[in-house]
Amino acid sequence: MSKEYFAVIVGAGPAGAFLAYRLASEGRPVALIDRQSFPRYKPCGGGISAKTAKLLQGSGIDFAPVVQDRVTRVVFTKQCAQPVTVDFDDTVIDMVMRDEFDDLLRRYAQETGAEFYPKCKFQEIVDLSDKVDIKTSQGNFKAKYLVGADGASSMVAKAMGQPVKKRLGFAVECELDSPDTGRFKGMVQLDHGHINEGYGWVFPKRNHLSIGIGSFSPAVRKYREHLDQFLNGLNIPHTPRITRGHIIPTPAQRKVKLHNDRMLLVSDAAGLADPMTGEGIYYALKSADLACHSLLQENLSAYSQAVNGQVLPELRQAKRVARIVYTLPGTIHNLIAKNSSLARMLVEVVYGAENYTNLIKSLLKANLPLGNIK
Ligand SMILES: Cc1cc2nc3c(=O)[nH]c(=O)nc-3n(C[C@H](O)[C@H](O)[C@H](O)COP(=O)(O)OP(=O)(O)OC[C@H]3O[C@@H](n4cnc5c(N)ncnc54)[C@H](O)[C@@H]3O)c2cc1C
Repeated sequence: MSKEYFAVIVGAGPAGAFLAYRLASEGRPVALIDRQSFPRYKPCGGGISAKTAKLLQGSGIDFAPVVQDRVTRVVFTKQCAQPVTVDFDDTVIDMVMRDEFDDLLRRYAQETGAEFYPKCKFQEIVDLSDKVDIKTSQGNFKAKYLVGADGASSMVAKAMGQPVKKRLGFAVECELDSPDTGRFKGMVQLDHGHINEGYGWVFPKRNHLSIGIGSFSPAVRKYREHLDQFLNGLNIPHTPRITRGHIIPTPAQRKVKLHNDRMLLVSDAAGLADPMTGEGIYYALKSADLACHSLLQENLSAYSQAVNGQVLPELRQAKRVARIVYTLPGTIHNLIAKNSSLARMLVEVVYGAENYTNLIKSLLKANLPLGNIK
């Protein structure tokens, strides 16, 4: 490419496409490249929390056309039994399929002026002195700045030469057709007891169910067997269409450096998923928003500072909650069965009406047998 861009963004998932849209809206020439062609399948529950929806709407993105269901009921179960049901007046989570959702964000970016290059794989950095020169499967791109939005196994992060430590979770999900799909309309089921340090989920889509299971324990293996056991426990007649797994990267450090003079890492490439729930799309958009501000100011160190100040503190609290909830899953289930406001609060944290700090305070008031858990 002879053209020189303000930024080349590698990866057209939610983080990359949202950042491309925001920078292009500010008149900056942007190239958005992805090794895949779009739309493309991504293993993901496709749960868009209300706090994520707010961020999108606040940026002028209407994702209603790709919403497949709106969730107002959350059911917690223990090995698919002892349901604890929490109902809400408003939508707490919108359900999307990531092929449609990511493609919608990609279209917003392109319609605002970003240039999209599908089937274009980032290979290496050629030069990083007075500008960025990168080699891709479609030739070289030159830009003032390079952004790694290329997901959990980011090649851009590796090329940057300053590895970001991540604590890795893993999750596997299947999309399945079932005559029971209608029973789950408007509700999600969150189940513990089929996997250590994690949970299983049933997310309703327009004509099918997304069912998955994930864990943050490095000791857990054989995810497909855990998923099969969960499916057996659910006792839903079904035909799986597709089953795929993927890493969930969460923070491993109190402070991170996610920039150099010409580069930034966002979202999964920076290890910014929630260590309690695995939610990543909110942090994809939030980190892209912070990256956009610092790129517009051409002050890249402000980005790492903003992530350290505005994102990591909440994710640290999420990790504390995870330690409690995943060490004492049965006790927590019995507690929320008796204490409906605590059950409600667990969901409120996800949709953004509450925060992890207040949730910890409430959990600590319950006199749990915490022992060494802090
Ligand atoms: C099973 C599962 C369920 C999940 N469920 C939810 C959920 O319900 N809600 C939620 O909020 N989060 C969920 N997450 C987390 C969420 O999927 C991720 O956090 C989110 O996709 C991160 O977005 P991203 O833009 O950083 O990366 P991605 O969505 O992974 O996009 C990265 C893009 O980069 C491209 N790419 C990679 N390498 C290159 C390269 N070398 N050159 C060019 N392009 C490249 C890829 O093709 C891809 O399109 C789930 C995760 C898993 C594994």
